[in-house]
Amino acid sequence: MKQARIVLVNTSHPGNIGAAARAMKNMGQSDLCLVDPQRYPSAEATARASGADDLLARAKCFGTLNGAIADAVLVIGTSARSRSLPLPMLDPRACAKLVYEQPDTKTVAILFGRERTGLSNEELDRCHYLVQIPSNPEYSSLNIAAAVQIIVYELSLLAGDPVNAGQTEIDYATAQQMEQFYDHLEETLVELEFLDPVNPKQLMRRLRRLFGRTRPDQNEINILRGILTAMNKKCS
Ligand code: SAH
Repeated sequence: MKQARIVLVNTSHPGNIGAAARAMKNMGQSDLCLVDPQRYPSAEATARASGADDLLARAKCFGTLNGAIADAVLVIGTSARSRSLPLPMLDPRACAKLVYEQPDTKTVAILFGRERTGLSNEELDRCHYLVQIPSNPEYSSLNIAAAVQIIVYELSLLAGDPVNAGQTEIDYATAQQMEQFYDHLEETLVELEFLDPVNPKQLMRRLRRLFGRTRPDQNEINILRGILTAMNKKCS
């Protein structure tokens, strides 16, 4: 089975963590990551995981989202609603197809938000795409484990489907490399007095959208970093 890393961010109810683990194991997924869970480990999580307690035991726990997605070359957020600065949207089927198009050696992360408030804007800044599960517009928010179930079910439907056959492998920059690039870009724009740190507005968010859409590879990100370094030298 093609694997995607399922990342649960700041989950408040341990039962939901267990139920998500079970949903994953049912569909042949095993890479579960927890970011700052509010109550974990917990007997409730283990009970709800049922026979998927092995997957729960192997789940990696991180204090921040950075650690959970550092090596990911593609980050997909999930949300019950569209957001103010929109990301490219996918439905669960298109999401599964996109995951399958990535080489097996590369990590794809799918993020699930808090039960009450979902993913923050800063977390969505890390995403290339947003998946929305079509649902009742008047009651669109699913239980988080139910949302995980649907996303991993769509992945399971594509098992054995050679959608990626014959594609050349692109060495995309990882989430960590992109973050280092954005830090460097921001510092440089401040140095150039293009970006006012007192009143940054949405500039960095918009630039993230731009570079997120193009998904630079390792070579391209090195060129961009080189350009920034050349600008830094001229400024100093
Ligand atoms: N009010 C919050 C609801 C969070 S529900 C919001 O609008 O984001 C908890 C999590 O379950 C969400 O962060 C998302 O990861 C997932 N989820 C719930 N309903 C979803 C839907 N219709 N499509 C995609 N993900 C959904």
